[in-house]
Amino acid sequence: MRLPRLPDRVPVLSRDYKIKRVMSSTLLKEHGHECYADCSPQDCTIRIVRGVSLEAAWGYLEHELGHAFVFELGFRPRLEDDKTLEEDIVEKLMPAWLGCIQSLRGNRG
Ligand SMILES: [Zn+2]
Repeated sequence: MRLPRLPDRVPVLSRDYKIKRVMSSTLLKEHGHECYADCSPQDCTIRIVRGVSLEAAWGYLEHELGHAFVFELGFRPRLEDDKTLEEDIVEKLMPAWLGCIQSLRGNRG
């Protein structure tokens, strides 16, 4: 199945997040290490590096949307004590849960 292009905006609960494609040097400069995407709840913006496959870009978008939902649901302050927990939720729990739901529905698209 062919992937659609990335959306320009995604509603995350009551706020719209802008999806921007940026040069890798922009992300590298701000994070100081190799980085392909980031999420700024302050600006309601998710930035994804240019020059990667559409499949990879969708993967980054899904991941960063996880961070956006964690923030918008107010979980972030409660995750401060264990900085790795938010990453584990976004990286492991959310995809596993989503994959389960999609397989139950017979929709892997
Ligand atoms: Zn992350």
